[in-house]
Amino acid sequence: MLLERERDEVVRACRKLSAAGLVVGTAGNVSVRAGDLVAVTPSGVDYAELAARDVGVHRLDGTPVEARLAPTSELPLHLAVYGADAGAGAGAGAIVHTHSAAATAVSTLADEVPAIHYYVAMFGGAVRVAPYATYGTDELAGNAVHALRGRTACLLGSHGAVTTGPDLTTAYDRAVYLEWVCDVYLRAAAAGTPRLLPPGEIEAVAAKLASYGQRP
Ligand SMILES: [Zn+2]
Repeated sequence: MLLERERDEVVRACRKLSAAGLVVGTAGNVSVRAGDLVAVTPSGVDYAELAARDVGVHRLDGTPVEARLAPTSELPLHLAVYGADAGAGAGAGAIVHTHSAAATAVSTLADEVPAIHYYVAMFGGAVRVAPYATYGTDELAGNAVHALRGRTACLLGSHGAVTTGPDLTTAYDRAVYLEWVCDVYLRAAAAGTPRLLPPGEIEAVAAKLASYGQRP
């Protein structure tokens, strides 16, 4: 089986997303890139039933290579992010898309998740909300690529969240942190006007975080 390890990783990430309550039903999708191939979740399969062989392998141009089921309807978004030029998703090795509740709530209210907490540094700064477009369309994919410029996360207006990473573990962890930041933002904004951190502080924290994970 082609990309057996990557397909297995996709299955495990989907189960974790489901267990963590970040996806409802079959919503959300996950992919891992390996060279010019992408392992991506199929459309509408219950994550509890999902097996590695159900995870399709497609080329970056969308051609199916080994896919027994139809891919997620957001395949154009995944491929557009991987194919984007420097700055927008460039170098991404994995993508996680969820409809997690707090992130989706913010996507209906705001144009960005501002720097209310230093964790936004792990996304490259304030997280933009991409303008709404119908799910599965090239328009939505383009809006997401634009919103991801210089960032590792974006929200999709009135839809959900997207995170990227060099690997699936990182993209998954970012989805969890993004949901937490959005939840805190909603609570803070409901109680008053949250203070924002200055851009210089976010840059300093980003530099600190970059060395954090590499320490023995
Ligand atoms: Zn979606």
